[in-house]
Amino acid sequence: MSNVRVRFAPSPTGFFHIGSARTALFNWLYARHTGGTFVLRIEDTDKERNKQEYLDVIYDSLRWLGMDWDEGPGIGGAYGPYFQSQRNDIYAQYLQKLHDAGRTYEKDGAVWFRLEGERSVEFDSYKGCEVEKVDAAPVVINDAIRGRVERAETQDFVIIRSNGEPVFHLVNVIDDIAMGITHVIRGEDHLSNTSKHVLLFEAFGAQVPVFAHMPLILKDPSIGKGKMSKRDRGALIEEYRERNFIPEAVRNYLCLLGWNPKDDREILEIDEVARLFELEAINKDNARFDEKKMAHINTEHLRALSVDSFVEKSIPVLSKAGLWTPETDAEYVRNVMELSQGKARSFEDLAEYVSYFFSETYAEDPKARTNLFKKGEPLVRLAEALQCLEGIAEWTAESLQKAFDDLAQTYGHDKPFAWFPVIRFSVSGVSGGPDLIPMLVVMGRGMVLARMKAFLSKES
Ligand code: GLU
Repeated sequence: MSNVRVRFAPSPTGFFHIGSARTALFNWLYARHTGGTFVLRIEDTDKERNKQEYLDVIYDSLRWLGMDWDEGPGIGGAYGPYFQSQRNDIYAQYLQKLHDAGRTYEKDGAVWFRLEGERSVEFDSYKGCEVEKVDAAPVVINDAIRGRVERAETQDFVIIRSNGEPVFHLVNVIDDIAMGITHVIRGEDHLSNTSKHVLLFEAFGAQVPVFAHMPLILKDPSIGKGKMSKRDRGALIEEYRERNFIPEAVRNYLCLLGWNPKDDREILEIDEVARLFELEAINKDNARFDEKKMAHINTEHLRALSVDSFVEKSIPVLSKAGLWTPETDAEYVRNVMELSQGKARSFEDLAEYVSYFFSETYAEDPKARTNLFKKGEPLVRLAEALQCLEGIAEWTAESLQKAFDDLAQTYGHDKPFAWFPVIRFSVSGVSGGPDLIPMLVVMGRGMVLARMKAFLSKES
């Protein structure tokens, strides 16, 4: 166990944005890499947003993505409580320290933090009034990702609002001190706060943690320019859950938003990422969300699943689409999934892809129909095939293959493929799908012959 302590400190908003997930993940990875501790702290000072359902979004998303926290809500730990709304006593004690050190004063009902340095009064043309400026050396931040960053802080700032509520900067820093946080890994949008935070750490006489500000996540170029917002397609983790993405795939993709294994590999096991993960290897440049890459990684993870887990994960999808009930034959489901796993691109496509295996009311693809009837005599071919397949004693891949070879011989076509498109369309309503012979085997004699007959009588 190392002494590294990192934290994910979300404010409950009711959403779990891809940027929050990436922040959580990089903290989690760093904790796992170093053998340190990953703390979950809820920054719920905004009482309006203090709702259980907002918290559940955070917990559920973290759990879904497999990011277990070592300390925090539901787990406990030596540094609790882990909700800012329950830490007022701690804030009062720390505030007292600042008072005692002469670093606070009251003005207009608010409590201010006093900077150290020469003061002068200047006219602020923006505010249209005179303000007191402090001449202090710029604050230096040695950022693990961005290197040395200097920022000037020239004005005292409010730490307790006139309504008595502490400001984010104050409680964020107090918690990081009180919880023994050694590394603050967060989004670059917080870099503008960090100079204030460093001054507060110093005023408390505390060790300044290592800061690592991660690059922004920009929109997918097909959506637009600028920082990805929670309204952009693909921005919310809930959305991926609803669309039955594989959580390991989403997590894999998040790893690549600002980090890479120093080679071109994209499909990675999380244990390996944790082993390789260094803060210094995080990119300085902004990351760009790439919807297609996310989908591709999801497909790859889908294909890599064992058949058993593919089947297990497919059941809720099929059930939601009305294609599965507890009475559905388990072996049949497994056989269909074995045929489909390598073909479906996502669980979203899966229900449509396999619907005709489970339902008699599947839709017919009009384009496939047009193509089928464009040339040749599909109905004659289908009648020939029906006669031949009806004669098969044992419904196996071998006997079906033999039947098609015989058909080709008898009717003088070079290939059995003359019959394939119309058979496929008559039993599925589409032109694509799993390889035909294994598919006919899985569907079984009864279903195949019945559908071929029904099609013939409907069409002629
Ligand atoms: N509650 C802050 C946020 O959600 C945390 C900032 C930090 O990580 O220090 O952005």
